[in-house]
Amino acid sequence: MAKKYQNFINGRWCDAIDGETFENRNPADRDDLIGIFPKSNKKDVDEAVKAAREAFKEWRLVPAPQRGQIMKKIGDLMVQRKEQIAREMTREMGKVFTETMGDTQEGIDTAYYADGESRRFFAPSVPSELPNKVAMTTRQPMGVAGVICPWNFPMAIPTWKIFPALTCGNAVVFKPASDVPATGTALVEILLDGGVPPKAINLVHGTGSTVGSPLVEHPDVDVISFTGSSVVGRKIAEACGRDLKRISLELGGKNGQIVMDDANLELAIDGALWGAFGTTGQRCTATSRLIVQEDVHDQFVDMLLERTKKLKLGYGNNEGVDVGPVINEGQRKIIHNYVQIGQKEGARMLCGGQYATDGDLAKGYFYKPTIFTDVTSEMCIAQEEIFGPVVVVIKVKSFDEAISVLNDTAYGLSSSVYTNDVNRAFRAMRDIEAGITYINGPTIGAEAHLPFGGVKDTGNGHREGGWTAYEIFSEWKTLYVDFSGKLQRAQIDNQ
Ligand code: NAD
Repeated sequence: MAKKYQNFINGRWCDAIDGETFENRNPADRDDLIGIFPKSNKKDVDEAVKAAREAFKEWRLVPAPQRGQIMKKIGDLMVQRKEQIAREMTREMGKVFTETMGDTQEGIDTAYYADGESRRFFAPSVPSELPNKVAMTTRQPMGVAGVICPWNFPMAIPTWKIFPALTCGNAVVFKPASDVPATGTALVEILLDGGVPPKAINLVHGTGSTVGSPLVEHPDVDVISFTGSSVVGRKIAEACGRDLKRISLELGGKNGQIVMDDANLELAIDGALWGAFGTTGQRCTATSRLIVQEDVHDQFVDMLLERTKKLKLGYGNNEGVDVGPVINEGQRKIIHNYVQIGQKEGARMLCGGQYATDGDLAKGYFYKPTIFTDVTSEMCIAQEEIFGPVVVVIKVKSFDEAISVLNDTAYGLSSSVYTNDVNRAFRAMRDIEAGITYINGPTIGAEAHLPFGGVKDTGNGHREGGWTAYEIFSEWKTLYVDFSGKLQRAQIDNQ
Protein backbone atom coordinates (compact mmCIF):
# COMPACT_ATOMS: atom_id res chain seq x y z
CA MET A 1 0.00 0.00 0.00
CA ALA A 2 1.60 3.29 -1.09
CA LYS A 3 2.11 5.95 1.55
CA LYS A 4 -0.30 8.87 1.29
CA TYR A 5 1.32 12.28 1.74
CA GLN A 6 -0.33 15.63 2.46
CA ASN A 7 0.19 19.36 2.15
CA PHE A 8 1.05 21.35 5.26
CA ILE A 9 -1.09 24.49 5.31
CA ASN A 10 -2.26 26.77 8.11
CA GLY A 11 -0.57 24.66 10.76
CA ARG A 12 -1.99 21.26 9.80
CA TRP A 13 -1.42 18.37 7.42
CA CYS A 14 -4.22 18.26 4.84
CA ASP A 15 -5.25 16.94 1.43
CA ALA A 16 -5.62 19.22 -1.58
CA ILE A 17 -8.94 21.07 -1.26
CA ASP A 18 -10.22 19.49 -4.47
CA GLY A 19 -8.99 16.05 -3.38
CA GLU A 20 -6.84 15.42 -6.45
CA THR A 21 -3.61 13.42 -6.21
CA PHE A 22 -0.55 12.36 -8.19
CA GLU A 23 1.88 9.44 -7.95
CA ASN A 24 5.61 9.61 -7.48
CA ARG A 25 7.81 6.66 -8.52
CA ASN A 26 11.45 5.67 -8.20
CA PRO A 27 13.22 6.64 -11.46
CA ALA A 28 15.51 3.60 -11.11
CA ASP A 29 12.53 1.26 -10.81
CA ARG A 30 9.13 2.31 -12.09
CA ASP A 31 7.45 -0.51 -10.12
CA ASP A 32 8.48 1.16 -6.88
CA LEU A 33 5.71 3.58 -5.94
CA ILE A 34 7.02 6.08 -3.39
CA GLY A 35 3.73 7.69 -2.54
CA ILE A 36 0.54 9.46 -3.48
CA PHE A 37 0.69 13.24 -3.14
CA PRO A 38 -1.89 16.03 -3.19
CA LYS A 39 -2.27 17.70 -6.56
CA SER A 40 -3.03 21.18 -5.32
CA ASN A 41 -4.25 24.27 -7.10
CA LYS A 42 -4.86 27.99 -6.58
CA LYS A 43 -7.29 27.39 -3.70
CA ASP A 44 -4.61 25.60 -1.68
CA VAL A 45 -2.08 28.30 -2.52
CA ASP A 46 -4.51 30.99 -1.33
CA GLU A 47 -4.93 29.21 2.02
CA ALA A 48 -1.20 28.81 2.40
CA VAL A 49 -0.45 32.47 1.66
CA LYS A 50 -3.18 33.58 4.07
CA ALA A 51 -1.69 31.45 6.86
CA ALA A 52 1.83 32.69 6.12
CA ARG A 53 0.67 36.33 6.21
CA GLU A 54 -0.92 35.69 9.61
CA ALA A 55 2.21 33.97 10.96
CA PHE A 56 4.44 36.78 9.73
CA LYS A 57 2.88 39.23 12.23
CA GLU A 58 4.50 37.43 15.16
CA TRP A 59 7.49 35.74 13.53
CA ARG A 60 8.93 39.08 12.38
CA LEU A 61 9.10 40.20 16.02
CA VAL A 62 11.08 37.19 17.25
CA PRO A 63 14.69 38.36 17.74
CA ALA A 64 16.85 37.11 14.88
CA PRO A 65 19.27 35.22 17.20
CA GLN A 66 16.29 33.28 18.56
CA ARG A 67 15.30 32.36 15.02
CA GLY A 68 18.94 31.33 14.58
CA GLN A 69 18.66 28.98 17.56
CA ILE A 70 15.81 27.23 15.77
CA MET A 71 18.06 26.87 12.71
CA LYS A 72 20.71 25.27 14.94
CA LYS A 73 18.15 22.73 16.17
CA ILE A 74 17.08 22.07 12.57
CA GLY A 75 20.71 21.42 11.62
CA ASP A 76 21.04 18.98 14.53
CA LEU A 77 17.89 17.12 13.44
CA MET A 78 19.20 16.91 9.89
CA VAL A 79 22.41 15.38 11.22
CA GLN A 80 20.38 12.74 13.09
CA ARG A 81 18.20 11.96 10.05
CA LYS A 82 20.89 12.39 7.39
CA GLU A 83 21.21 8.80 6.25
CA GLN A 84 17.46 8.21 6.19
CA ILE A 85 16.91 11.40 4.19
CA ALA A 86 19.67 10.45 1.74
CA ARG A 87 18.36 6.90 1.20
CA GLU A 88 14.87 8.18 0.47
CA MET A 89 16.20 10.98 -1.73
CA THR A 90 18.14 8.48 -3.85
CA ARG A 91 14.98 6.41 -4.14
CA GLU A 92 12.99 9.46 -5.13
CA MET A 93 15.27 11.17 -7.64
CA GLY A 94 18.00 8.72 -8.55
CA LYS A 95 21.41 10.20 -7.78
CA VAL A 96 23.76 7.90 -5.90
CA PHE A 97 23.70 7.63 -2.12
CA THR A 98 27.04 9.40 -1.54
CA GLU A 99 25.68 12.35 -3.51
CA THR A 100 22.38 12.50 -1.64
CA MET A 101 24.41 12.41 1.60
CA GLY A 102 26.28 15.43 0.22
CA ASP A 103 23.02 17.13 -0.75
CA THR A 104 21.77 16.70 2.83
CA GLN A 105 25.09 17.87 4.28
CA GLU A 106 24.71 21.07 2.31
CA GLY A 107 21.41 21.63 4.09
CA ILE A 108 23.10 21.02 7.44
CA ASP A 109 25.86 23.51 6.62
CA THR A 110 23.21 26.02 5.55
CA ALA A 111 21.33 25.59 8.84
CA TYR A 112 24.42 26.15 10.98
CA TYR A 113 25.45 29.06 8.82
CA ALA A 114 21.97 30.58 9.34
CA ASP A 115 22.43 30.31 13.10
CA GLY A 116 25.66 32.29 12.86
CA GLU A 117 24.25 34.80 10.39
CA SER A 118 21.29 35.51 12.68
CA ARG A 119 23.71 37.34 15.00
CA ARG A 120 25.31 39.24 12.13
CA PHE A 121 22.58 41.29 10.52
CA PHE A 122 25.13 44.05 10.18
CA ALA A 123 23.70 47.37 9.07
CA PRO A 124 25.87 50.49 8.99
CA SER A 125 25.31 53.54 11.16
CA VAL A 126 26.96 56.61 9.65
CA PRO A 127 27.31 60.21 10.82
CA SER A 128 24.45 62.49 9.93
CA GLU A 129 25.32 65.69 8.07
CA LEU A 130 23.31 67.66 10.64
CA PRO A 131 24.09 68.31 14.30
CA ASN A 132 22.20 66.44 17.01
CA LYS A 133 20.91 63.87 14.60
CA VAL A 134 21.60 60.15 14.25
CA ALA A 135 21.50 58.24 10.95
CA MET A 136 21.43 54.48 10.83
CA THR A 137 20.16 51.55 8.80
CA THR A 138 18.45 48.29 9.63
CA ARG A 139 17.34 45.21 7.71
CA GLN A 140 13.78 44.05 7.94
CA PRO A 141 11.97 40.94 6.73
CA MET A 142 9.83 41.32 3.64
CA GLY A 143 6.70 39.34 4.53
CA VAL A 144 5.69 36.19 2.67
CA ALA A 145 8.34 34.40 0.63
CA GLY A 146 7.28 32.05 -2.17
CA VAL A 147 9.91 29.35 -2.69
CA ILE A 148 9.85 27.30 -5.92
CA CYS A 149 12.47 24.60 -6.37
CA PRO A 150 13.77 22.11 -8.95
CA TRP A 151 14.22 18.39 -8.37
CA ASN A 152 17.98 17.91 -8.78
CA PHE A 153 18.99 19.12 -5.30
CA PRO A 154 15.79 18.38 -3.42
CA MET A 155 17.21 19.15 0.03
CA ALA A 156 20.07 21.59 -0.53
CA ILE A 157 18.26 24.07 -2.77
CA PRO A 158 15.12 24.43 -0.61
CA THR A 159 17.36 24.97 2.44
CA TRP A 160 19.35 27.65 0.58
CA LYS A 161 16.11 29.58 0.26
CA ILE A 162 13.93 28.63 3.23
CA PHE A 163 16.58 28.93 5.96
CA PRO A 164 17.64 32.50 5.10
CA ALA A 165 14.01 33.48 4.42
CA LEU A 166 12.93 32.29 7.88
CA THR A 167 16.04 33.57 9.65
CA CYS A 168 15.33 37.03 8.23
CA GLY A 169 11.83 36.80 9.76
CA ASN A 170 9.71 35.99 6.70
CA ALA A 171 6.98 33.36 6.56
CA VAL A 172 7.28 30.84 3.73
CA VAL A 173 5.14 29.02 1.20
CA PHE A 174 7.21 26.21 -0.31
CA LYS A 175 6.48 24.39 -3.57
CA PRO A 176 8.89 21.52 -4.18
CA ALA A 177 9.24 20.07 -7.68
CA SER A 178 6.64 17.39 -8.31
CA ASP A 179 9.41 14.81 -8.91
CA VAL A 180 10.66 15.19 -5.31
CA PRO A 181 7.68 15.80 -3.02
CA ALA A 182 8.79 13.26 -0.39
CA THR A 183 12.11 15.02 0.24
CA GLY A 184 10.23 18.33 0.44
CA THR A 185 7.94 16.77 3.04
CA ALA A 186 10.91 15.46 5.07
CA LEU A 187 12.32 18.98 5.16
CA VAL A 188 9.07 20.52 6.39
CA GLU A 189 8.79 17.86 9.13
CA ILE A 190 12.26 18.86 10.30
CA LEU A 191 11.40 22.57 10.26
CA LEU A 192 8.36 21.89 12.43
CA ASP A 193 10.25 19.57 14.80
CA GLY A 194 12.96 22.22 15.06
CA GLY A 195 10.47 24.80 16.32
CA VAL A 196 9.43 26.93 13.33
CA PRO A 197 5.90 28.21 14.15
CA PRO A 198 3.54 25.95 12.16
CA LYS A 199 1.87 28.66 10.11
CA ALA A 200 5.21 30.22 9.20
CA ILE A 201 6.03 27.27 6.94
CA ASN A 202 3.49 26.04 4.41
CA LEU A 203 4.03 23.19 1.97
CA VAL A 204 1.95 22.97 -1.21
CA HIS A 205 2.54 20.06 -3.58
CA GLY A 206 1.69 20.17 -7.26
CA THR A 207 2.77 21.26 -10.69
CA GLY A 208 4.29 24.49 -11.94
CA SER A 209 1.11 25.63 -13.64
CA THR A 210 -1.35 24.75 -10.86
CA VAL A 211 0.74 25.73 -7.81
CA GLY A 212 3.85 27.60 -9.01
CA SER A 213 2.01 30.14 -11.16
CA PRO A 214 -0.67 31.06 -8.57
CA LEU A 215 2.08 31.49 -5.99
CA VAL A 216 4.05 33.81 -8.28
CA GLU A 217 0.95 35.82 -9.13
CA HIS A 218 -0.46 36.05 -5.61
CA PRO A 219 -0.66 39.71 -4.57
CA ASP A 220 0.17 38.91 -0.96
CA VAL A 221 3.50 37.21 -1.76
CA ASP A 222 6.33 39.73 -1.36
CA VAL A 223 9.31 37.85 -2.76
CA ILE A 224 9.72 34.85 -5.06
CA SER A 225 12.85 32.77 -4.92
CA PHE A 226 13.04 30.46 -7.92
CA THR A 227 15.54 27.88 -9.09
CA GLY A 228 14.87 26.06 -12.34
CA SER A 229 15.15 26.37 -16.08
CA SER A 230 15.75 29.66 -17.88
CA VAL A 231 12.55 29.16 -19.89
CA VAL A 232 10.37 29.05 -16.77
CA GLY A 233 12.49 31.69 -15.02
CA ARG A 234 11.78 34.15 -17.81
CA LYS A 235 8.02 33.60 -17.52
CA ILE A 236 8.12 34.08 -13.77
CA ALA A 237 10.21 37.21 -14.12
CA GLU A 238 7.62 38.67 -16.49
CA ALA A 239 4.81 37.99 -14.03
CA CYS A 240 6.79 39.44 -11.13
CA GLY A 241 7.81 42.43 -13.22
CA ARG A 242 4.16 43.30 -13.82
CA ASP A 243 3.54 43.31 -10.05
CA LEU A 244 6.89 44.94 -9.14
CA LYS A 245 7.58 41.89 -7.00
CA ARG A 246 11.10 41.04 -5.93
CA ILE A 247 12.40 37.88 -7.51
CA SER A 248 15.63 35.95 -7.37
CA LEU A 249 16.34 33.58 -10.24
CA GLU A 250 18.90 30.77 -10.33
CA LEU A 251 18.66 29.24 -13.78
CA GLY A 252 20.41 27.01 -16.28
CA GLY A 253 24.03 26.53 -17.22
CA LYS A 254 26.26 25.30 -20.05
CA ASN A 255 29.43 25.07 -18.06
CA GLY A 256 32.84 24.61 -19.60
CA GLN A 257 36.06 23.09 -18.34
CA ILE A 258 39.24 24.24 -20.07
CA VAL A 259 42.17 21.82 -20.16
CA MET A 260 45.46 23.44 -21.17
CA ASP A 261 48.62 21.73 -22.45
CA ASP A 262 50.38 22.33 -19.11
CA ALA A 263 47.58 20.78 -17.01
CA ASN A 264 47.85 17.72 -14.82
CA LEU A 265 45.81 15.47 -17.12
CA GLU A 266 44.93 12.84 -14.50
CA LEU A 267 43.50 15.59 -12.32
CA ALA A 268 41.66 17.13 -15.26
CA ILE A 269 40.11 13.74 -16.11
CA ASP A 270 38.98 13.21 -12.50
CA GLY A 271 37.34 16.64 -12.63
CA ALA A 272 35.76 16.07 -16.04
CA LEU A 273 34.23 12.71 -15.09
CA TRP A 274 32.83 14.01 -11.82
CA GLY A 275 31.64 17.25 -13.40
CA ALA A 276 30.04 15.63 -16.44
CA PHE A 277 28.52 12.46 -15.03
CA GLY A 278 28.01 13.20 -11.32
CA THR A 279 24.25 13.48 -10.63
CA THR A 280 23.93 11.85 -14.08
CA GLY A 281 24.83 15.23 -15.58
CA GLN A 282 21.71 16.78 -14.09
CA ARG A 283 23.31 19.70 -12.28
CA CYS A 284 23.03 23.34 -13.16
CA THR A 285 26.82 23.36 -12.71
CA ALA A 286 27.44 20.13 -14.69
CA THR A 287 30.45 20.14 -16.99
CA SER A 288 28.84 19.89 -20.38
CA ARG A 289 31.69 21.28 -22.48
CA LEU A 290 35.33 20.22 -22.32
CA ILE A 291 37.51 22.77 -24.07
CA VAL A 292 40.84 21.09 -24.68
CA GLN A 293 44.07 22.50 -26.08
CA GLU A 294 45.09 20.65 -29.26
CA ASP A 295 48.47 19.33 -28.02
CA VAL A 296 46.79 17.26 -25.30
CA HIS A 297 43.42 16.74 -26.98
CA ASP A 298 43.87 13.18 -28.26
CA GLN A 299 45.52 11.89 -25.10
CA PHE A 300 42.85 13.54 -22.96
CA VAL A 301 40.02 12.09 -25.04
CA ASP A 302 41.52 8.56 -24.89
CA MET A 303 41.82 8.78 -21.11
CA LEU A 304 38.31 10.17 -20.77
CA LEU A 305 36.79 7.44 -22.92
CA GLU A 306 38.56 4.68 -21.03
CA ARG A 307 37.37 5.98 -17.66
CA THR A 308 33.82 6.69 -18.88
CA LYS A 309 33.39 3.13 -20.13
CA LYS A 310 34.14 1.86 -16.62
CA LEU A 311 31.31 3.85 -14.98
CA LYS A 312 28.72 1.54 -13.46
CA LEU A 313 25.07 2.44 -13.92
CA GLY A 314 22.41 1.32 -11.45
CA TYR A 315 20.18 2.05 -8.51
CA GLY A 316 22.00 4.66 -6.45
CA ASN A 317 21.31 2.94 -3.12
CA ASN A 318 23.31 -0.11 -4.28
CA GLU A 319 27.03 -0.40 -3.51
CA GLY A 320 29.49 0.37 -6.30
CA VAL A 321 27.09 2.31 -8.52
CA ASP A 322 28.61 5.43 -10.11
CA VAL A 323 25.73 6.82 -12.15
CA GLY A 324 22.00 6.70 -11.41
CA PRO A 325 19.03 7.11 -13.75
CA VAL A 326 17.80 10.38 -15.20
CA ILE A 327 14.77 11.86 -13.50
CA ASN A 328 11.93 10.74 -15.78
CA GLU A 329 11.02 9.52 -19.24
CA GLY A 330 10.38 13.04 -20.54
CA GLN A 331 13.90 14.09 -19.63
CA ARG A 332 15.38 10.90 -21.12
CA LYS A 333 13.66 11.69 -24.43
CA ILE A 334 15.01 15.26 -24.37
CA ILE A 335 18.55 13.94 -23.80
CA HIS A 336 18.22 11.39 -26.59
CA ASN A 337 16.87 14.05 -28.92
CA TYR A 338 19.96 16.21 -28.26
CA VAL A 339 22.19 13.22 -28.97
CA GLN A 340 20.50 12.72 -32.34
CA ILE A 341 20.87 16.43 -33.10
CA GLY A 342 24.58 16.15 -32.26
CA GLN A 343 24.99 13.30 -34.73
CA LYS A 344 23.14 15.21 -37.42
CA GLU A 345 25.34 18.24 -36.78
CA GLY A 346 28.39 16.11 -37.61
CA ALA A 347 29.83 15.59 -34.14
CA ARG A 348 31.52 12.23 -33.52
CA MET A 349 29.92 10.11 -30.80
CA LEU A 350 32.58 8.10 -28.97
CA CYS A 351 30.34 6.22 -26.56
CA GLY A 352 26.82 6.10 -25.16
CA GLY A 353 24.01 7.67 -27.13
CA GLN A 354 21.49 5.05 -26.05
CA TYR A 355 19.03 4.10 -23.36
CA ALA A 356 20.69 1.62 -20.95
CA THR A 357 18.38 -1.36 -20.64
CA ASP A 358 20.50 -4.32 -19.53
CA GLY A 359 18.97 -6.40 -16.74
CA ASP A 360 17.42 -4.31 -13.95
CA LEU A 361 18.30 -1.09 -15.79
CA ALA A 362 15.27 -1.74 -17.99
CA LYS A 363 13.05 -0.89 -15.01
CA GLY A 364 14.29 2.69 -14.84
CA TYR A 365 15.21 5.72 -16.92
CA PHE A 366 18.89 5.00 -17.52
CA TYR A 367 20.95 6.63 -20.24
CA LYS A 368 24.49 5.65 -21.20
CA PRO A 369 27.16 8.27 -20.49
CA THR A 370 27.86 9.92 -23.83
CA ILE A 371 30.91 11.71 -25.22
CA PHE A 372 31.01 13.77 -28.41
CA THR A 373 34.21 14.97 -30.06
CA ASP A 374 34.73 17.03 -33.23
CA VAL A 375 32.33 19.55 -31.75
CA THR A 376 32.40 23.20 -32.70
CA SER A 377 31.12 25.97 -30.52
CA GLU A 378 28.15 26.96 -32.67
CA MET A 379 26.63 23.46 -32.64
CA CYS A 380 23.37 23.10 -30.77
CA ILE A 381 24.89 20.45 -28.44
CA ALA A 382 27.58 22.99 -27.49
CA GLN A 383 25.07 25.78 -26.86
CA GLU A 384 21.96 24.35 -25.20
CA GLU A 385 21.62 22.88 -21.74
CA ILE A 386 21.08 19.12 -22.17
CA PHE A 387 20.78 18.27 -18.46
CA GLY A 388 21.89 14.67 -18.77
CA PRO A 389 25.01 12.49 -19.02
CA VAL A 390 26.30 14.02 -22.24
CA VAL A 391 29.57 15.90 -22.59
CA VAL A 392 31.06 17.52 -25.69
CA VAL A 393 34.75 18.04 -26.39
CA ILE A 394 35.84 21.14 -28.31
CA LYS A 395 39.45 21.33 -29.55
CA VAL A 396 41.16 24.74 -29.33
CA LYS A 397 44.55 26.03 -30.40
CA SER A 398 45.33 28.58 -27.70
CA PHE A 399 44.40 29.84 -24.27
CA ASP A 400 42.74 32.92 -25.80
CA GLU A 401 40.60 30.71 -28.01
CA ALA A 402 39.72 28.54 -25.00
CA ILE A 403 38.43 31.55 -23.05
CA SER A 404 36.52 32.82 -26.05
CA VAL A 405 34.85 29.41 -26.61
CA LEU A 406 34.04 29.11 -22.92
CA ASN A 407 32.33 32.51 -23.01
CA ASP A 408 30.47 31.71 -26.23
CA THR A 409 27.20 30.70 -24.58
CA ALA A 410 24.05 32.39 -23.36
CA TYR A 411 24.66 31.07 -19.86
CA GLY A 412 27.24 32.02 -17.23
CA LEU A 413 27.05 29.85 -14.15
CA SER A 414 30.17 27.80 -13.47
CA SER A 415 33.52 27.36 -15.20
CA SER A 416 36.83 25.67 -14.66
CA VAL A 417 40.40 25.83 -15.91
CA TYR A 418 43.06 23.18 -15.53
CA THR A 419 46.48 24.76 -15.87
CA ASN A 420 49.70 25.01 -13.91
CA ASP A 421 50.48 28.44 -15.34
CA VAL A 422 49.71 31.09 -12.75
CA ASN A 423 49.35 33.80 -15.37
CA ARG A 424 46.71 31.83 -17.24
CA ALA A 425 44.92 31.08 -14.00
CA PHE A 426 44.61 34.75 -13.11
CA ARG A 427 43.60 35.74 -16.63
CA ALA A 428 40.90 33.08 -16.52
CA MET A 429 39.59 34.38 -13.18
CA ARG A 430 39.38 37.86 -14.68
CA ASP A 431 38.11 37.13 -18.20
CA ILE A 432 35.68 34.24 -17.88
CA GLU A 433 32.04 35.36 -17.93
CA ALA A 434 30.58 33.27 -15.13
CA GLY A 435 29.42 33.54 -11.54
CA ILE A 436 31.86 30.82 -10.44
CA THR A 437 35.36 29.94 -11.68
CA TYR A 438 37.39 27.02 -10.38
CA ILE A 439 41.11 26.66 -10.94
CA ASN A 440 42.19 23.00 -11.07
CA GLY A 441 38.83 21.81 -9.81
CA PRO A 442 35.65 20.67 -11.59
CA THR A 443 32.74 22.98 -12.34
CA ILE A 444 30.74 21.46 -9.50
CA GLY A 445 31.25 21.64 -5.75
CA ALA A 446 29.77 24.81 -4.29
CA GLU A 447 30.28 25.52 -0.59
CA ALA A 448 27.27 26.66 1.41
CA HIS A 449 28.82 29.80 2.88
CA LEU A 450 29.86 31.38 -0.42
CA PRO A 451 27.76 33.22 -2.99
CA PHE A 452 26.28 30.96 -5.66
CA GLY A 453 24.77 32.04 -8.96
CA GLY A 454 25.60 33.18 -12.44
CA VAL A 455 25.64 35.90 -15.04
CA LYS A 456 23.87 36.25 -18.42
CA ASP A 457 20.85 33.92 -18.84
CA THR A 458 21.70 32.05 -15.63
CA GLY A 459 19.96 34.55 -13.42
CA ASN A 460 19.00 38.09 -12.59
CA GLY A 461 21.96 39.16 -10.50
CA HIS A 462 21.11 37.68 -7.12
CA ARG A 463 23.34 35.18 -5.36
CA GLU A 464 22.21 32.37 -3.09
CA GLY A 465 24.48 30.77 -0.52
CA GLY A 466 26.33 32.62 2.19
CA TRP A 467 25.55 36.15 3.25
CA THR A 468 24.26 37.20 -0.16
CA ALA A 469 21.11 35.07 0.25
CA TYR A 470 20.11 37.31 3.16
CA GLU A 471 19.95 40.27 0.79
CA ILE A 472 17.23 38.49 -1.18
CA PHE A 473 14.95 38.09 1.82
CA SER A 474 15.37 41.41 3.60
CA GLU A 475 14.63 45.08 2.97
CA TRP A 476 16.87 47.94 3.95
CA LYS A 477 15.30 50.61 6.11
CA THR A 478 17.00 53.93 6.83
CA LEU A 479 16.34 55.56 10.21
CA TYR A 480 16.95 59.17 11.21
CA VAL A 481 16.59 60.39 14.80
CA ASP A 482 16.71 64.14 15.30
CA PHE A 483 17.32 65.19 18.91
CA SER A 484 18.02 68.88 18.19
CA GLY A 485 14.53 69.95 19.21
CA LYS A 486 14.15 72.11 16.10
CA LEU A 487 13.30 71.64 12.44
CA GLN A 488 16.49 70.80 10.59
CA ARG A 489 16.23 70.61 6.83
CA ALA A 490 18.72 68.30 5.15
CA GLN A 491 20.96 69.92 2.53
CA ILE A 492 19.46 73.40 3.03
CA ASP A 493 20.55 73.74 6.68
CA ASN A 494 24.01 72.52 5.70
CA GLN A 495 24.80 75.74 3.86
P1 NAD B 1 11.80 23.69 -14.18
O1 NAD B 1 12.04 25.10 -14.58
O2 NAD B 1 11.05 22.83 -15.11
O3 NAD B 1 10.99 23.64 -12.79
C1 NAD B 1 11.47 24.25 -11.62
C2 NAD B 1 10.30 24.47 -10.67
O4 NAD B 1 9.43 25.44 -11.22
C3 NAD B 1 9.46 23.24 -10.41
O5 NAD B 1 9.04 23.22 -9.07
C4 NAD B 1 8.28 23.45 -11.34
O6 NAD B 1 7.11 22.77 -10.92
C5 NAD B 1 8.10 24.95 -11.25
N1 NAD B 1 7.42 25.58 -12.39
C6 NAD B 1 7.34 25.12 -13.66
N2 NAD B 1 6.63 25.99 -14.40
C7 NAD B 1 6.26 27.01 -13.59
C8 NAD B 1 5.52 28.23 -13.78
N3 NAD B 1 5.02 28.55 -14.97
N4 NAD B 1 5.34 29.04 -12.72
C9 NAD B 1 5.87 28.74 -11.53
N5 NAD B 1 6.57 27.60 -11.28
C10 NAD B 1 6.77 26.76 -12.31
O7 NAD B 1 13.22 23.08 -13.83
P2 NAD B 1 13.59 21.59 -13.38
O8 NAD B 1 13.47 20.68 -14.55
O9 NAD B 1 12.89 21.24 -12.11
O10 NAD B 1 15.15 21.78 -13.00
C11 NAD B 1 16.15 21.77 -13.95
C12 NAD B 1 16.58 23.17 -14.30
O11 NAD B 1 16.95 23.87 -13.10
C13 NAD B 1 17.83 23.20 -15.16
O12 NAD B 1 17.69 24.19 -16.14
C14 NAD B 1 18.93 23.56 -14.19
O13 NAD B 1 20.06 24.16 -14.75
C15 NAD B 1 18.20 24.48 -13.27
N6 NAD B 1 18.88 24.57 -11.98
C16 NAD B 1 19.54 25.74 -11.67
C17 NAD B 1 20.23 25.85 -10.48
C18 NAD B 1 20.95 27.12 -10.12
O14 NAD B 1 21.19 27.34 -8.93
N7 NAD B 1 21.31 27.97 -11.06
C19 NAD B 1 20.26 24.77 -9.60
C20 NAD B 1 19.58 23.60 -9.94
C21 NAD B 1 18.90 23.52 -11.13
